[in-house]
Amino acid sequence: MTLPTRATQYGVTRDELATLLKGEPRYRVDQLWEGLYTQLAEPNDISNLPKALRARLADDLPTALTPAGESASSNGDTVKFLWTLEGGSKVETVLMLYPDRATVCVSSQAGCAMGCGFCATGQAGFTRHLTVGEIVEQVVRAAQRAQQSDRRISNIVFMGMGEPMANLDAVWQSVERFHGDLGLSARHITISTVGVIPGIRDLQHRPLPVNLAVSLHAANDGLRNELVPINKRYPIEDLLDACSDYLTVKHRRVSFEWAMIDGVNDRDSDARELAALTRRLSPHGHVNLIPLNPTPGYPTMGTPIGRVRDFRDLLENLGANATVRQNRGTEIDAACGQLAAGRPVTVRA
Ligand code: SAH
Ligand code: SF4
Repeated sequence: MTLPTRATQYGVTRDELATLLKGEPRYRVDQLWEGLYTQLAEPNDISNLPKALRARLADDLPTALTPAGESASSNGDTVKFLWTLEGGSKVETVLMLYPDRATVCVSSQAGCAMGCGFCATGQAGFTRHLTVGEIVEQVVRAAQRAQQSDRRISNIVFMGMGEPMANLDAVWQSVERFHGDLGLSARHITISTVGVIPGIRDLQHRPLPVNLAVSLHAANDGLRNELVPINKRYPIEDLLDACSDYLTVKHRRVSFEWAMIDGVNDRDSDARELAALTRRLSPHGHVNLIPLNPTPGYPTMGTPIGRVRDFRDLLENLGANATVRQNRGTEIDAACGQLAAGRPVTVRA
């Protein structure tokens, strides 16, 4: 499937807007940009623009995401949005409100080609890359929702559908927009990768020091080849070298994601191998432990929470830093790995 090429509200650059607004006074570009990114307003609601221009912009700058459904946890602090994209594929975005921060989890691709068997997105296969407009608009829509509760987005994580490193140009342009136009600090933006080494190396040379999360899930190549097939191309030793270089150049903490799968990667021997790996990074890599969410294509259970905590204690005793992550959103299928568009969600009237 080819990428859409038409201009969209959050896909256009400032220069493209200037072309679109040719014949208008120069300051109109700034007014429109500030309306879109500071007020998070629809062109039609940017009140300092003349009415006729607003109407034209509503036509010339369509939205990239069409709402296809939405669900919220019972206390309303986790909201999952389902969108239809041009061409008909669907992606999801999750907004998580915490007392001290508001995080948006964005998708970078419709589906994913990496084929991790335990991941619902991987089970669905790859459809297409997302455009800059589609990525940025996910955050804006979530920010508009947060605004309704007087909250501002503080963190963005590329942990939705897709492999960000496989679509790095669009991901990076979106990061620049989040940083430069939505005002987020790079240290509050995290790119998660399954371990695509050329992407990590590329990121290392880009100017903003974003956080890097690596989905490790196994600390020896035998098991990782099974869980994360791309490991056959980018094995653990080389991956660790790339993480180590990223850390040296960027001075950002590298974190390792570890979805705990009952009886598969939660043994004492796994903890020992993992601790040995993280000790090779200086300062040490940080491990995030998340019990696996069982998915239709991989019904194995997640590790029981008591064992997850024991595993964390073991890692800590072995000198590794580890945190048990809350499984936000399981109730509404919005947790990591459960993002597979197409299941029914509650549609708001
Ligand atoms: N493709 C990237 C980013 C998206 S996935 C990556 O893999 O890192 C975000 C996180 O959810 C990854 O750490 C992924 O391994 C994890 N994940 C996928 N399926 C999961 C599942 N069923 N249970 C728990 N975590 C899962
Ligand atoms: Fe793709 Fe990440 Fe899922 Fe693997 S875990 S299939 S890389 S989205």
